[in-house]
Amino acid sequence: MSYEGASDLMTVPLPTETTRWRCTLCGNLTRFDVTRSSKVVEYVHLDLAGEPKVEEREVVSETIDSVRCRWCNAVDQIELVDRPGADS
Ligand SMILES: [Zn+2]
Repeated sequence: MSYEGASDLMTVPLPTETTRWRCTLCGNLTRFDVTRSSKVVEYVHLDLAGEPKVEEREVVSETIDSVRCRWCNAVDQIELVDRPGADS
């Protein structure tokens, strides 16, 4: 048994203010399905009838599990490229 995938846990680089995702296979820049895991704290306010309503939601932690290209369905084949006009 080998665990080849183990080192690929962070295969999705996070975009910054000056970079954006690009699919390395087809060059798609604009359309992705992002699978995200979030841990959130919700302020649940129930009315007298017992109907709950979430009034505040605070994201405690958030990780991106995978990104799939909407054009070619490649999973986690993402690289970061500069946004247009971004010069550093
Ligand atoms: Zn693609």
